[in-house]
Amino acid sequence: MKRKFWTTSTTIILISAILLFALSMLTISRIEKVYRTNTAESIEHLKRQFLYDSVQNQVKRIDTHRAITNQRYKAELERKLLLLDNAYTTGDGFVGRATSYLSNSANAAWTAVLWEKETGKVILDTHSLVGEGELPIEVVGKRIHEYDTQIFRSYAPYTLFLGIRQTVIESEVKAFITEEIYGSAYSENSYIWVNEVVNWDGGDGYAIRRIHPNLRDTVGTLLSTSMTDIKGNTPYKTELEGVKQNGELFFTYYFQKKDSKEISEKLTYAKLYKDYNWIVAMGIHLDDLSAYVNNTNNQSSFILRQITPLFIFLVLGLFVLNSVLLMIIEKRKSKKDNQALQMEANQDTLTGIGNRRYGETVLKDHFYKFKRDQKQVLVAVFDIDFFKHINDTYGHDIGDRTLVQLSRALEHVVCTRDSLFRMGGDEFLVICSDIAGKNLEKICTTLLETARALDISSEGASFSLTISIGVTTFRESDINEQQALKRADKALYRAKEAGRDRCEIDW
Ligand code: GH3
Ligand code: MG
Repeated sequence: MKRKFWTTSTTIILISAILLFALSMLTISRIEKVYRTNTAESIEHLKRQFLYDSVQNQVKRIDTHRAITNQRYKAELERKLLLLDNAYTTGDGFVGRATSYLSNSANAAWTAVLWEKETGKVILDTHSLVGEGELPIEVVGKRIHEYDTQIFRSYAPYTLFLGIRQTVIESEVKAFITEEIYGSAYSENSYIWVNEVVNWDGGDGYAIRRIHPNLRDTVGTLLSTSMTDIKGNTPYKTELEGVKQNGELFFTYYFQKKDSKEISEKLTYAKLYKDYNWIVAMGIHLDDLSAYVNNTNNQSSFILRQITPLFIFLVLGLFVLNSVLLMIIEKRKSKKDNQALQMEANQDTLTGIGNRRYGETVLKDHFYKFKRDQKQVLVAVFDIDFFKHINDTYGHDIGDRTLVQLSRALEHVVCTRDSLFRMGGDEFLVICSDIAGKNLEKICTTLLETARALDISSEGASFSLTISIGVTTFRESDINEQQALKRADKALYRAKEAGRDRCEIDW
């Protein structure tokens, strides 16, 4: 039983442990996978957004700076006209004063043409627009589209054209934006770069690298759409086709990292700034991203893996619990077994009352108590009268039943429980303790009457019986309990001799 329980419970624990372990490992790896994918996706989404926002903002700043520069030149034109108008109204020397003012190097960016209205004679032409024999009004009129901020002003008899070329404003804006980009710092070592497309059909020299914070010394070099990265991608071609189609695109390719010789995959967002033929782009290396994902993932799996010692602890706990349970069960069982064994050894198999062995042990105990405390005990031995006759007349089975019924009946009238014993055959022993002051004859009478009153009826037969009793008590002179037992036997013999169905007391 012990072995079977141990084997079964250990097997169950082991199987459960293996299953639980496998399940937790599976769960951990699944969580890791989901976590890794989700983290990578959310980070990539954020990074894409970061690239998109940074480039879009940079493009917006080009527009803003263009507008501001235009505004500034418009205001400057107003100021210049105010000055010239003033010179004109204050009287002589207008031509001289205007010429010297407009030729001043501080105004070198401005185009000023002054001519006589009537004759077309050119008095001042700061950018040498008008050739020999040409009419200034026609020349200027033809090139007016090149100017962003300009005016024709009549200072009779002269006409003045004053304007600032778009290219001047553009290069000023471009220089400003270039400085701004070189001066910007972004997280993850990322940066904005600009290529200027000069041939929308692609090919060698289709674009010029204009701004590149990572490779500043390559600024001004010509780019080719046939250029490939280490994996055979053609990023310039992809970029050119993407911006031609949608004005913007996300794409990946392999490129050298900033401040390092390492080459890794780079996610890039590029947007076309049409007016300048600029492709404004920004990228981020994806291995920076995976390092971040790994780091986050490692932290989370560290927490998950802490479950393992907990798990081992749990299994050990189960083993200990199993052993303790086994011990308790084993102890209880052996106690019960002992009790059952003891009972079996002391019981008369037919009647269920105590047997001779038990009777003599109990009698011995009482004898010790008597010797120690002088507590008097009644020792009675009785025997069924003519039991052989019952056996012969009604059969052995009914004889057996008679023994059982007599035991049941007398068991209830004797002093206490555990006071009636079958000594063998049809002979019984009764032990009553604490009989001081009790009437021994009365005890005997009760036993005799109970036996007499018994009606044994079975299988059509019905009969009664009588018993003969021999009674004695312990004596000071007794060496052991057996002496009292012998006296009781002798008294019983006398009762039989005297005609049975009676009690003989040996005082
Ligand atoms: P007496 O009045 O002198 O006691 O006469 P008796 O016939 O009872 O004689 P005795 O006590 O000597 O005989 C007991 C008989 O009980 C002998 C035996 O056949 C019978 N006997 C002994 N054990 C058992 C038993 O377990 N079952 C049955 N049915 N009979 C038993
Ligand atoms: Mg008998």
